[in-house]
Amino acid sequence: MYAEIISVGTELLLGHTINSDAAYVARELSALGINLLYSCTVGDNPERLEAALQTALDRSDIVITTGGLGPTGDDLTKETIAKTAGKKLVLHQESLDRIVEYFKGRVMGESQKKQAMLPEGCTVFPNGCGTAPGCGFQTANGKTMIMLPGPPSELIPMLKNYAVPFLAKESGAVIVSRIVRVFGLGEGYVAEQITDLTEGTNPTAATYAKDGEMFVRVTARAKDEAAASALCEPVVDELQRRLGDFIYGIDVESLEELVVKELTRRGLHLACAESCTGGLLASRITDIPGSSAAFQMGAVTYANEIKTLLLDVPEETLRQYGAVSEQTARAMAEGIVRKSGSELGIGITGIAGPGGGTPEKPVGLVYLALCDGKQTWVRKMPGNNAKKGRRYLRWLAASNALDMVRRYLFDLGGLEEAAYTAKNI
Ligand code: ATP
Repeated sequence: MYAEIISVGTELLLGHTINSDAAYVARELSALGINLLYSCTVGDNPERLEAALQTALDRSDIVITTGGLGPTGDDLTKETIAKTAGKKLVLHQESLDRIVEYFKGRVMGESQKKQAMLPEGCTVFPNGCGTAPGCGFQTANGKTMIMLPGPPSELIPMLKNYAVPFLAKESGAVIVSRIVRVFGLGEGYVAEQITDLTEGTNPTAATYAKDGEMFVRVTARAKDEAAASALCEPVVDELQRRLGDFIYGIDVESLEELVVKELTRRGLHLACAESCTGGLLASRITDIPGSSAAFQMGAVTYANEIKTLLLDVPEETLRQYGAVSEQTARAMAEGIVRKSGSELGIGITGIAGPGGGTPEKPVGLVYLALCDGKQTWVRKMPGNNAKKGRRYLRWLAASNALDMVRRYLFDLGGLEEAAYTAKNI
């Protein structure tokens, strides 16, 4: 089956908006094992959109449009598609009710109603995050047409929750995806280790990298859920065998979610003293609902005097080894355990840059300490990541701290293992 994406929007042609929708849709299609042959962008112009649609419907089995479903005059995708495919637009009452509900307590313009006019006989994809519904239908000559809204915050959930199951149903199959999350190995290294697994078509396995970690998505198609899960299983098992405890979870959202869940399950508490991450670790932890059961406190101790005042970091330690040192990180973790009464404490100190680095202590150098009241472990992030920028370095430091807690909780060892080795550069 061949697919084609048509992205609609003059702002895309002008370069004012980056076409991230096309990238999301392309990735989903690839995970489904559907070949994407063409992807084009058209401005908000009905004639040119019609021409692009005609061409796409001639040469592809599945055509997916993004954008142009909204209430404004230049949102003409639906009308043009209906015309090209010879479909009538009819009122979809449920969608209108949703739009009316969305505007409850506010003034709703007449133009909003046009969003509830949809091609006759289509499968409607409700928009949980906005007003314009999407939809999918079969054309008279058996082609699949799918329309999705432009804003990524609306497109991504609609794609996942409605368009992908619709495509699977059209092909008489159920789709199951498993997400295998990895921390501490680079995407290039992992890709090399699992090349053979990524060459399959059912299940497919694909690697993705983001914010200093990566994941492998394994997706299978089968006649029912049990059969699709069974197809995924051997590949997931093989990934576990090859990547071992660098895999931090399967179908979990994030390191912080895993850590909060496990701390809560064990009745343990965590506190953190942060310098270069400026509260990012505490913020990521407290983003997780229910984290109050496991998280006691976060202290942002930037200045040396505050490290001494709040955490009892000895002035002598700061003078002799400096604020960015193994000794200071250790004293910070031990200090926050004492002050908070938590079973576990984290200390983070480093140089996030772009300034402030020296040959001995370059930008990107971060020391992370974990203390359990009896023992303290220190991990060093060497300064070989400086070019990646401040935001990335801070994020990676917080992730390393979470990884230390994970390794401690699951008794995996490797707490002090350098964050960057030959495997993960
Ligand atoms: P709305 O109901 O918001 O009007 P729509 O389906 O009509 O939704 P558009 O009007 O085409 O969508 O675009 C709305 C906004 O969505 C754009 O201003 C842009 O910020 C974003 N957007 C549109 N298309 C894309 C795209 N391909 N990639 C990323 N963002 C996009």
